[in-house]
Amino acid sequence: MEVILMAVKSVYFFGNGKAEGDAKMKDLLGGKGANLAEMTNLGIPVPPGFTVSTDVCAAFYAGGRKYPAGLDKEVLAALQRLEKSIGKKLGDPDDPLLVSVRSGAPISMPGMMDTILNLGMNDKSVRGLAAKTANPRFAWDAYRRFIQMYGDVVMEVPHEDFEEALASMKKAKGVQLDTELSAEDLEKLVETYKKIVREDAKVDFPQKPLDQLWGAVNAVFGSWMNEKAIKYRQINEIKNIKGTAVNIQAMVFGNFGDDSGTGVCFSRDPSTGENEFYGEYLMNAQGEDVVAGIRTPEKIATLAKKNKVVYDQLIGIKNRLEKHFRDMQDIEFTVQQGKLYILQTRNGMRTGASAVKCAVDMVAEKLITKEQAILRVTPANLDQLLHPMIEPAAQKAAKALTKGLNASPGAACGKIIFTANEAEAWHAKGEKVLLVRRETSPEDIGGMAVAQGILTSTGGMTSHAAVVARGMGTPCIAGAKDVIIQGKTMTIGPKTYKEGDWVTIDGSTGEVFDGQLPLKTPEISKDMNTFLKWCDDIRATSKRGNIKGFEVWTNADQPEDAKRAFQFGAQGIGLCRTEHMFFDKEKLPYFRAMIVANTTEKRKEALKKILPLQQKDFFGIFKAMEGRPVVIRLLDPPLHEFVPHTDAETSELADQLKIPVTALKAKVESLKEFNPMLGHRGCRLAITYPEIYDMQVEAIALAAVECVKQKIPVHPEIMIPLIITTKELKVLRANAEAVLKRVFAAAGMKVPIIIGTMIEVPRAAIRATDIVQYADFFSFGTNDLTQMTFGFSRDDAGSFLPSYIEQEVLEVDPFRSVDEEGVGFLIEVATNGGRLVKPNLPVGICGEHGGDPSSIEFCYKAGLSYVSCSPFRVPLARLAGAQAVLKGLEKPTKPAAKKPAAKKPAAKKAAAKKAADKAKKPAAKKAVAKKATAKKAADKKPAKKAVAKKAVAKKAVAKKAAAKKPAVKKVAAKKAVAKKAAAKKPAAKKK
Ligand code: PEP
Ligand code: MG
Repeated sequence: MEVILMAVKSVYFFGNGKAEGDAKMKDLLGGKGANLAEMTNLGIPVPPGFTVSTDVCAAFYAGGRKYPAGLDKEVLAALQRLEKSIGKKLGDPDDPLLVSVRSGAPISMPGMMDTILNLGMNDKSVRGLAAKTANPRFAWDAYRRFIQMYGDVVMEVPHEDFEEALASMKKAKGVQLDTELSAEDLEKLVETYKKIVREDAKVDFPQKPLDQLWGAVNAVFGSWMNEKAIKYRQINEIKNIKGTAVNIQAMVFGNFGDDSGTGVCFSRDPSTGENEFYGEYLMNAQGEDVVAGIRTPEKIATLAKKNKVVYDQLIGIKNRLEKHFRDMQDIEFTVQQGKLYILQTRNGMRTGASAVKCAVDMVAEKLITKEQAILRVTPANLDQLLHPMIEPAAQKAAKALTKGLNASPGAACGKIIFTANEAEAWHAKGEKVLLVRRETSPEDIGGMAVAQGILTSTGGMTSHAAVVARGMGTPCIAGAKDVIIQGKTMTIGPKTYKEGDWVTIDGSTGEVFDGQLPLKTPEISKDMNTFLKWCDDIRATSKRGNIKGFEVWTNADQPEDAKRAFQFGAQGIGLCRTEHMFFDKEKLPYFRAMIVANTTEKRKEALKKILPLQQKDFFGIFKAMEGRPVVIRLLDPPLHEFVPHTDAETSELADQLKIPVTALKAKVESLKEFNPMLGHRGCRLAITYPEIYDMQVEAIALAAVECVKQKIPVHPEIMIPLIITTKELKVLRANAEAVLKRVFAAAGMKVPIIIGTMIEVPRAAIRATDIVQYADFFSFGTNDLTQMTFGFSRDDAGSFLPSYIEQEVLEVDPFRSVDEEGVGFLIEVATNGGRLVKPNLPVGICGEHGGDPSSIEFCYKAGLSYVSCSPFRVPLARLAGAQAVLKGLEKPTKPAAKKPAAKKPAAKKAAAKKAADKAKKPAAKKAVAKKATAKKAADKKPAKKAVAKKAVAKKAVAKKAAAKKPAVKKVAAKKAVAKKAAAKKPAAKKK
């Protein structure tokens, strides 16, 4: 271990126009370190320094918080090189080198880890610095800042103790600002600070520079595992990175006097994406003064008036950096006595609007390709663009209480809460909260993440609140100085608000409003349209075997939802849940009458009343979708969900039905089930009460006929839910076909309507090769498939899943992201199985996972034809789908193994085609399909192939399980009779 680590380089120097690292080494040097190296190589003025690699962080934790052997020597050598390059020595009593020690992970985690500035100050060097700079005030201020920072971060002395000492010194001197304290005041303050350290930490403030350095390095590596950093990584799903690097760099000072300053700037507007230089700075200040929001910074354009040379130089550098990195840059700079230094550059965090605009503009500027643009905008960026805004009329009518900085766009309303912890607590109770703070700090990250919006009374556009909120896509107003916060109250002008009062904010305008204003979802902008069209093109031209394209459909039950989804770019409806239509006031009484009916006749009577209403619903949806496919899922939930739940409702229904309340209650009672989600629901309802599906199919057919009559293009598809066995689907398909035949015969026309099934039960996935004989398409209902694969009740798992995630028993909530190893495996089994028989079988997903970016990527790799998600997720899915295609193209070798569906049919064309031809027209070929021979053809071979192929993509264990499990074993071992028995058993058990 020792030998290996000593042989590996751990420290990378940068300075004097040459660096040992570069921008490609982010994993090893962290984002900050890699870009400091790159800028050094580019000849940009960067103070020299060195980076201790992320490998050291990983080794530090792997070795029980011990450093790899040899690191001390390497650090010392780099320090000596730095001292030589600057011509000063750390801790030199006459002319000390001072350094900063900063964290820097491969993925930016702003403010989450520790930083120490002015390291190298001690009782002697402070005097040397005072003499050398002829600025004792500066020297003592630097020392007191160092003690304060080091004391807090490394020695864990409560920072309030320092703040209080500073405040009482200002009070004693009768001044307001730190800058008004004299050198003598600050010298006294240093004594007080050292006393505070001694009393609290029980040791003297360290005077040896190397002790200081290692203390700071320890603290920065230690901060990788601090609570807020862990939480930040959890919230932002930052995984699989080794740790943070530590950057030790010569200090430059923006607080040297009025010819010095510090600032943060962006090469384009991070809020809107406009190609305008954007930023803020403060003269005579250190970096933390800008970020902390203690003083309100000035706009970057005014720097031109203060120092034209520096301003022009900065413009030149930002143009160069943007061109070099081909992305919008977030740059930190310091001016020391008129000389400009760049301390950091990174790709700027941006709002969704800015991300899209930058991407579209940069393609037009030929800075990046369309493909790069697509990979650069995140699905979360788009999600943010669909955030609500205040209803324009309501906004016009309302008078803003005050206006702050429009730090992060979008409107939000919520109950005002004054601490991050309380925000989390209220959120946990289901409340919508608006976090109101003077300023935020990294400790507030949890509360910020759950808040609808954030309002701060101090701070600028680059304050912590503003930067973090933009990254999260949370609406935010910063620096609303008329907002006076005292304890748990907020006063704006004459009005005082207390905790829990409703307030609305508009992060796009900076306005704060009283109460709850109505919010509205914005339209898709022109840039977003352009961008999403590129995404559509990428998806449309993608090809996996003979599966062309990768579409985005939507789940919509109402014509308005369908219209919205259509506007958002949905290419079809992948799930129209018909049961939602029955909750409608008009239909519910009839539906209830149908449920409690004791005879088929009575049930049919009630269904007859629902038929025209349901037909109207379908007609509305078909019309809205203008000929795009509409998959209508026949009734799915257990019937007891529709019955009255209160005594009042029960009496009302009993009156309507003219039956005694007791009889109704008894009926309702009889519908209760211990496990309703595993009970009498889905296609099971239609096996027992076929008239329900008959009515629905009739309504679909009639609506389709009506469309044709009105020359409205129509493309309905019927989907049967919760299928477990081939026989179930065979029976229900036959029923549906009979109804369609009857309706079309009466109408004198025929509308093509295909019939498919949902794959929601593991058994159906395993038996897909067989089931597909009666299915024209498959759609994965991954909500149920996850429920039944895990054996977790989808309604109850919320009580224990958080512990699973927290303890990392599960990496992610399987109801949010497809569990690729289990549920995903079944998806592949079923897709491949179905396509072996029907090579062009359309296969989609309509569970909630259809709107989750990582699940979308999985679906693409698994060979699905489309994903279907809620209307608001459609734009995001259009992008995530395109990204999946592009990522697939980036790694051509891997997906090959994961695309068995596409490959198999090609390889096995002849055999599979035969089986497919047989199974293609299940209605006509039912009799044939029934025969043992045909069945074997469908079952045996394809299943084996499916398994064999999948095995390539899967681990050995999975492979074995697969090879054993699905069709092969059963088909080989069992005959038709045995098979039937197997299919029947579970049903019998359930009852
Ligand atoms: C599913 O189970 O994934 C599905 C889409 O159906 P539902 O959520 O309606 O059960
Ligand atoms: Mg379902």
